[in-house]
Amino acid sequence: MSTRYKNLIGGEWVDAVSGRTFQDVNPADREDILGEFPRSGAEDVGRAVEAAQEAFKSWRLTPAPKRGEIIFRAGEILVKRKEELARLMTLEMGKVLKETRGDVQEGIDTAYYMAGEGRRLFGHHVPCELPNKFGVAMRVPVGVVAAITPWNFPLAIPTWKLFPALVCGNTVVFKPAEDTPLLAHRLVEILFESGLPPGVVNLIHGLGAEAGAALVRHPSVALVSFTGSTEVGREVATVCAQTGKKVSLEMGGKNAILVMDDAPLELAVDGAIWGAFGTSGQRCTAASRVIVHEGVLGPFTSQFVERARHLRLGSGLEETTDVGPVINETQLSRVHEYTEVGRKEGATLLTGGEVATEGRLGKGFFYKPTIFTDVEPTMRIAQEEIFGPSVAVLRARSLEEAVEICNNTAYGLSSAIYTRDVNRAFRAIQDLSTGITYVNASTIGAEVQFPFGGVRQTGNGHREGGWTVLDIMTEWKTVYVDYSGRLQRAQIDV
Ligand code: NAD
Repeated sequence: MSTRYKNLIGGEWVDAVSGRTFQDVNPADREDILGEFPRSGAEDVGRAVEAAQEAFKSWRLTPAPKRGEIIFRAGEILVKRKEELARLMTLEMGKVLKETRGDVQEGIDTAYYMAGEGRRLFGHHVPCELPNKFGVAMRVPVGVVAAITPWNFPLAIPTWKLFPALVCGNTVVFKPAEDTPLLAHRLVEILFESGLPPGVVNLIHGLGAEAGAALVRHPSVALVSFTGSTEVGREVATVCAQTGKKVSLEMGGKNAILVMDDAPLELAVDGAIWGAFGTSGQRCTAASRVIVHEGVLGPFTSQFVERARHLRLGSGLEETTDVGPVINETQLSRVHEYTEVGRKEGATLLTGGEVATEGRLGKGFFYKPTIFTDVEPTMRIAQEEIFGPSVAVLRARSLEEAVEICNNTAYGLSSAIYTRDVNRAFRAIQDLSTGITYVNASTIGAEVQFPFGGVRQTGNGHREGGWTVLDIMTEWKTVYVDYSGRLQRAQIDV
């Protein structure tokens, strides 16, 4: 019997009202069940939101430096438990240990960054036009924040949302992805061990269409902070518009690496391998297109394919593994469907293109690193997010053409250019239409102290990470203090 986990509502660990559960499965071995979690519905969500509303009354008045200290302690616990959490994460969602260690480290970095924010949360003092009048704009919490997260960064992404939300004085109802409930459970335990009062964070497990949808719809939720697919993000935005909520969306990507004919080629191949196949291609910033200048297309492609063929698939717990499984059966089929689509569209499959079933790989959801060439920019494999170890190589005759191909998708998260020419690098920085651009580095590598997010259908104008997340997690309140002792009229008494 696997362990049965619970929701956390108002400081109490409780089952779903319905008593229903769902299973947490190890994607490297489908027979390994890591636990059972409550399959929550609208009633559970309602209780969690009520608990968060109640806790908001005192949490918003707790001094921000004190709130920051709790987050700092959470960071310290994450440091102590980094290895244990990384191993658990590899078991739960498959990515290799060095990446899951990085995921926990991102949580630690966010804790320390946001803990310091407790002693900043800067507002603005601006001079008033009238005498003996004082004006200041300050940040105030939003209220109850719904945090809805995906499975590919099961610790880092929740910390991007929860830590700033809490430092800013909000309370939270957290609905993690149904593929990674265990890491969410551990994170919430750590927050309470750090001294968080009951009800300030409430954890609701369950499916997106049930628990997630009920949370987005709940009238007492003030802000929805969502990371996930563009398809679901659009639905979330629609409901938020109808129910008058603030909403921040971090969604899909179709990121590209541009390789110019003067690029350091080996470095570009390193970047393409890491960008395309790290986390089995299941990163919002994964490089799923490589746009190569025709002058180096041949040598680049042969080196890229050679390296991809030698990547070792396996359990992420083994230090020799390069690429772990994809998250679940549905995703495995989806990645393979895109291989079929690529073939039908006339692209040439250079390597991979099939489910890996050799030996123990057959027990999990493994897909061979896949590279297509002769890909036209309009093909579906060059336009749609596959979210797996599958990459399209496209030809360009110039920087201008490469930029145009890169920009011509619905998404705009991350881009990269490899070149030794500083003029080309700056033209790319200027012209690539993405929220993040790398020069001589892959599409992956965001640091927590910078804004993170994308344009077009990747986002809705907000940026998590860095200082910009504070604009999501707070409202501006403008305060005027008139100490003249008489009626003064702005714009009139001039
Ligand atoms: P998903 O959209 O299927 O699910 C994300 C979360 O939303 C989960 O917790 C899910 O339960 C919930 N959900 C699903 N339907 C819902 C509904 N109707 N109402 C409310 N909540 C609902 O995404 P996923 O498969 O977990 O993650 C992969 C996607 O996330 C990819 O598209 C990837 O690009 C994107 N992603 C984006 C970023 C970013 O920062 N831009 C980061 C990581 C992942």
